[in-house]
Amino acid sequence: MEYRKFNADYLFNGTSLLGEDHVLIADSTGRIKDIVHYTNAGEGIELFSGILSPGFINAHWHLELSHLRNLIPEKKGLADFVFSVVAGRNFEEEKILVPIGRAEAEMLGSGIVAVGDICNNSMSLLQKENGKVSYYNFIETSGWNPAIADTRFEKSKSYYDEFINKKQIASIVPHAPYSVSRELWGKITPFFTDKVVTIHSQETKDEDEFFLNGTGSLVELYQRLNIDNSFYKAKKLTSLQSYFRYFAEASSVILVHNTYMKQEDLEYLNETKPRNQMISFCLCINANLYIENALPPIDMLLENNSNIAIGTDSLASNHQLNILEELKTIARNFPGISTEILLKWATLNGAKAIQMDRNLGSFETGKQPGIVLIENISGDKLTADSISRRIL
Ligand SMILES: [Zn+2]
Repeated sequence: MEYRKFNADYLFNGTSLLGEDHVLIADSTGRIKDIVHYTNAGEGIELFSGILSPGFINAHWHLELSHLRNLIPEKKGLADFVFSVVAGRNFEEEKILVPIGRAEAEMLGSGIVAVGDICNNSMSLLQKENGKVSYYNFIETSGWNPAIADTRFEKSKSYYDEFINKKQIASIVPHAPYSVSRELWGKITPFFTDKVVTIHSQETKDEDEFFLNGTGSLVELYQRLNIDNSFYKAKKLTSLQSYFRYFAEASSVILVHNTYMKQEDLEYLNETKPRNQMISFCLCINANLYIENALPPIDMLLENNSNIAIGTDSLASNHQLNILEELKTIARNFPGISTEILLKWATLNGAKAIQMDRNLGSFETGKQPGIVLIENISGDKLTADSISRRIL
């Protein structure tokens, strides 16, 4: 077996940022053999300028919305955004499939190797069968009107079966607390057992307002979409506290956005989560700036030792599908966070969240995580010009 040897200014192994005296050794398929000291690495070392990192994990994406790039106006708030997405779903198939292929290629080139992908249909399945990127497929269900719980569930279940029949990893998940009725939760909860599940959570401050008081922009959204909301009685709980118990049997829960999560919600999670369950907080900072012009509470999550992962969200709410661009935006707004911590969120933490850390997320011997080069750094800091590309 032929081996390749890689050296750069820094080597991020999945947990630590090592110095230039380390050499990464992998076989020609990218399977990691070892990390050794430069003096023991022998001949034939390939030299790079920048940081070598395991492939990135995109913990939250909507591949099927790739045709909506640059179509939805920015900074209008979540309720307006959801309305635009619902209205924009009905494009002809070809106008959806071509951007799907392009989006995957863009993602691969910038170093993403695995994705937690939200699916409302099976249009992305053909692309996924080529196996270039690993997907955890979250078959998303929604329906606020209790009367449609059966039909919505049956539809999601048929997509789920389609993905499973094609040997894809999949689970059935709720879209958001404000779009899934108690009846629909009841139908999908049995499918959470031992699965990775995810939900858009506390993306707008009106979400808590709706669950605490039954008022706010979400009520207007139901009116615009002609959805009957007359049955709803506010629970006097925050959004998160009103739904989290449904996830009791899931092995991993990815809470996406968390832009308006409060300390009391984190304490609630600590008290109620099952002992063996993993909870991850997926940040989609560029989408938060795009839709709500808001920043997620990263300092609070750090203080609580939360498992943070990174997602790009969709091209409907982001200008690119690039995990490094997410890290650069975080670094710009939270300059105290080290590159080592940012890269851990983008690699090992994401791999654990979607339960692919057996093979991905770090340069441990035997894994095949992809090798990414980050160029144009300053010291060990990311800069506005930093770019990433897959080199193996
Ligand atoms: Zn999303």
